[in-house]
Amino acid sequence: MIANRWDEAQAAQFQDAAGSDPMARELALRVYSSRLIGSDPDLVMHGGGNTSVKLRARDVMGQEIDVLHVKGSGWDLGQIEAAGLPALRLAPLLELRSLEALSDAAMVNVQRANLLDSMAPNPSVETLLHAWLPPRHIDHTHATAFLTLANLPEVAEATREIFGDRMALVRYIMPGFALAKAAAQVFEENPQAEGLLLVNHGHFTWGPTAKDSYDRLIAQTNAVMDWLSQRRAAPLRPVAALPAPERASLLPRLRGAVAGVLGDDAPMPLFDLRAGDAVMRFLARPDLDALAARGVATPDHVIRTKGHPLLLRRADPTEAGMQRALAEYADRYAAYFDRHNPRHGGSLTRLPPVPGLVWAEGVGLIGLGASRGAARIAADICEQTLRVMQDGMAAGDFRPIGEADLFDMEYWSLEQAKLGKSRPAPLQGRVVLVTGAAGAIGAAIARAFAAQGAALMLVDRDEAAVNTLRDALGRDHAALACDITEKGVADAAMAATIDAFGGLDILISNAGAAMQGAMAELPEATLRASFELNFFAPVAFAQAAVSVLRAQGRGGQLLFNVSKQAVNPGRDFGAYGLPKSATMFLLRQLALELGGEGIRVNGVNADRIRSGLLSDAMIAARAHARGLSEADYLAGNLLHREVEARHVAQAFVALALSERSTAHVMTVDGGNIEAALR
Ligand code: ZN
Repeated sequence: MIANRWDEAQAAQFQDAAGSDPMARELALRVYSSRLIGSDPDLVMHGGGNTSVKLRARDVMGQEIDVLHVKGSGWDLGQIEAAGLPALRLAPLLELRSLEALSDAAMVNVQRANLLDSMAPNPSVETLLHAWLPPRHIDHTHATAFLTLANLPEVAEATREIFGDRMALVRYIMPGFALAKAAAQVFEENPQAEGLLLVNHGHFTWGPTAKDSYDRLIAQTNAVMDWLSQRRAAPLRPVAALPAPERASLLPRLRGAVAGVLGDDAPMPLFDLRAGDAVMRFLARPDLDALAARGVATPDHVIRTKGHPLLLRRADPTEAGMQRALAEYADRYAAYFDRHNPRHGGSLTRLPPVPGLVWAEGVGLIGLGASRGAARIAADICEQTLRVMQDGMAAGDFRPIGEADLFDMEYWSLEQAKLGKSRPAPLQGRVVLVTGAAGAIGAAIARAFAAQGAALMLVDRDEAAVNTLRDALGRDHAALACDITEKGVADAAMAATIDAFGGLDILISNAGAAMQGAMAELPEATLRASFELNFFAPVAFAQAAVSVLRAQGRGGQLLFNVSKQAVNPGRDFGAYGLPKSATMFLLRQLALELGGEGIRVNGVNADRIRSGLLSDAMIAARAHARGLSEADYLAGNLLHREVEARHVAQAFVALALSERSTAHVMTVDGGNIEAALR
């Protein structure tokens, strides 16, 4: 059951923050209950659903007018603020109802033209529906329970059984002018109704206050949940999970195969894998084939997930099996496009014929996206859809909108607009693993790659520090605390990266530490420890990364943080320089052997960077020994400028983007002729 979380004290806080104006105080309550609704994924998810309130406002001439505040596109109900509920003049919106029809473009234009603030976001595509229903507060959700009810074949009978005549049905129409008209008519024909069920779409309810509307929303949703729970079947036993090594090999191969359909230059998709108990029970269903062919629980999901998942059977995950399954999917998608494009004058451009979701037997459900955020949204929606399907099948069936309606929604210009047309960041969709990520240079590298759109797996020995960095970068990055010199850790780190993102694109071997001592007296143990960290760990990570890159079959990159010590020895730094020079040789050897597979291998040769390796105390000591100020010591290079961690990070990004460079070492030391490579 969904809890009613209205709290008078919290509501009062929202009102007080809004000041003394009664309209602003009521809008504050609208914001408060919108957030309550938006923070429960079983009510709305990822921009779905919307709310409104009808208030009075003064226009620029001082005239008092009726306005509709309705959710602006791009706002999520869970985090909405007053600015996310822009005000529109209500009277001109009401006049529109006398029209027979209104094109989408004209509707968007007239809505924008009636905004009080010309800079406000576009009002929701469901604005006219909110305008034409008279109640003051209106709430619209795509609640899991209502989606289940809305997709039952006997939806009318079931709704009457639950609500009597207090819930009126609106037949399926695509959102926009025609749906608003139909809903307003149903509202007028059913004065006793306290809510509307939009068949195949969702739920509307209302009330004179924000609280009344919210109370009703929760009560009505719970009434449906209660009805469904009485019909729920005993849960199936979860499908047996594929052993971890097989899963770790399957996901990168799938990622590479999907990219193969997208084309040579397209980045590989990112994955979000869900393998919880509920998912694994769902995947044990005997009717998976039929359900995979059904469609989406509410129409606007189609732009996030495509209409149908790819069902990958346990027997499919051979190379050939996977490619066959994807080719069949692409053929079906192309045929679907060709069947419906003519209705739109043959003018549409086909979207890439790859799935947005994969149901992988024995593995789980996988959301696919061009970014980690898009993959997460697809996976979240899928988890909800599985609940809708499960409960729907137990209560009758799951009968969503048909193919033609699905197509119209998928290729509707207003839906495509939600996805945005901005150019993706240069490294969007690239998975980057950085070792030593929590150190000064590692963190600078992580930030620089994240700023270019990459998804990061942060690896470091310091658990607290690496988690803090992950939190700072955001939820679409991952962190792993481990000692990279331990046996098996490289493989474990790759497995964690695959589970988090589906594969790997770039390995940055950055972790290192400088052991000191004069070579002639250096204890063997010190030298061996230095080789473990500065050479053998990078070898192990490179080998593990190459096996993932090979499974994907789409090239990739290995980047190494070398060191000036590798080419220009410093007194007492032999224990550091020896493994680093071996690592520099390693990168050239790997570049030679892997170039044919499109795997580029490069390194950065940095010097005199303030970091864990060159601490403030060391800087002070060295500057003192040379009779220099610290600033002059750090700027002791051809450019006379201190070299910072961010400059090293810049070089790694530059190498990552340099598509025809391999076996290259880029020097970042402000200029030092003695240490120049060539
Ligand atoms: Zn809706």
